[in-house]
Amino acid sequence: MLKIYNSLTKKTEVFTPIDKINNTVGVYSCGPTVYDYSHIGHGRKYVADNIIVRTLRYLGYKVKHVMNITDVGHLVSDADTGEDKLEKGAKKAGKTVWEVAEFFTRDFFEMLNLLKIFEADVFCKATEHIPEQIKQIERLFENGFAYDTAEAVYFDVSKFPSYKELFGQNLSEKIVGVREEVVTDTNKKNAQDFVLWFKAVGKYKDHTMRWESPWGTGFPGWHIECSAMSTKYLGEQFDIHTGGIDHLSIHHPNEIAQAEGASGKFPFVKYWIHHDFLTVDNKKMSKSLGNTYRVTEIKEKGYSPLALKYLYLLAHHSRPLNFTFEALDSAAKSLNKIYSAILNLQNSNIQNVLPDPNYRAEFLSAMEDDFNTPVALAVLWKTLKSDLDNSVKLVTILDFDKILGLGFFDVKPAQEKEYPERVRELITKREIARKERNWEEADKLREELKRVFNIEVKDN
Ligand code: AMP
Ligand code: ZN
Repeated sequence: MLKIYNSLTKKTEVFTPIDKINNTVGVYSCGPTVYDYSHIGHGRKYVADNIIVRTLRYLGYKVKHVMNITDVGHLVSDADTGEDKLEKGAKKAGKTVWEVAEFFTRDFFEMLNLLKIFEADVFCKATEHIPEQIKQIERLFENGFAYDTAEAVYFDVSKFPSYKELFGQNLSEKIVGVREEVVTDTNKKNAQDFVLWFKAVGKYKDHTMRWESPWGTGFPGWHIECSAMSTKYLGEQFDIHTGGIDHLSIHHPNEIAQAEGASGKFPFVKYWIHHDFLTVDNKKMSKSLGNTYRVTEIKEKGYSPLALKYLYLLAHHSRPLNFTFEALDSAAKSLNKIYSAILNLQNSNIQNVLPDPNYRAEFLSAMEDDFNTPVALAVLWKTLKSDLDNSVKLVTILDFDKILGLGFFDVKPAQEKEYPERVRELITKREIARKERNWEEADKLREELKRVFNIEVKDN
């Protein structure tokens, strides 16, 4: 029985899908704003999303996982003030906004690839869904939730009575927040009203990305993309929505108000899941604090990205995790120990062997307890140390990896490891040289393999 802590109700609830007959589950994850490199803090969040989806699939649900790519409209402050992050990124890089978006989208996908989580069914870009966003704003007008001023189109939060209760947000704090901002539209009805559409006037008159709309040329506010695209791909009501804890106070209340205001259906989403941050010295890892590492940098330092993934899984996704290289070293050691154990188990015959039911049940009960990966990893170790028959042990832990995705299926003896192209080339050349009895050439190639790649070639 899967239990999920729902941040909207603030309760741990038993999961039941909306579509019980077909067992389908819709999952939407707020994705990145592609104006800068993705770092290992982001990596933690997307690994957590992937674990949720894999657990659901393991449990037999047919999951559709949708993730957005924000490539327009996300201002420096989530609360509609400051410059568009993309426009700012473009100026910094001396490139067009489109080039910047494409470059950092690729960087994001590369990170997902390294962590072996490039798996969402739909990746949708805000700029490719402008008509859907305009349509949703039109429906908000029809239903009396939207109004416009000379500067922008707003959502009128006073028309949506439950707005103030969503995620227990503190509206008075928001008012203070807004007051502190230098630039505000004096024609807004309520300080907490948020932007649905920015008109390309005033401070946004030079905004590069712009589209025609019933309210003039401009660009969408950040929040509307997520409600418009999630409902497009998953329907007006769906099962699970994920995001970082930073979305509890602005982005997610706004998404709910927009989606429910437009569709008239409640609830927009049944379960809301929020992930906590990766921290450094107990401060959020973020570009602005200058304490970030990219996954490629971790790899260049000699760590496997999967060791980083193992480290993420050592903490529950809803708790903070403090990053240190000591912790990463220790995670890498643990993962290597697991790989060695798998290698030792590999000569057992696993044909027609099933996972051990007791350890499997224990592992699943950890995962079903709000995706409790630290407990699940403890069960994994317990299984490895158990006196189970080797073949059953191997099958059981391989089965766990269908959820964990730590590369257990790819563990191979050293001689079968995939070496870089150059290594394979040198080895082949050397074999040819030996066949031709060209010992001098063969020795030269052997030396190069040793010197450059630290690979010792042994001939039998
Ligand atoms: P950003 O645009 O850098 O604020 O990041 C986009 C999203 O990634 C945020 O809304 C968070 O949900 C998540 N995120 C950013 N930094 C971290 C971090 N240090 N740890 C975990 N998640 C993060
Ligand atoms: Zn979102």
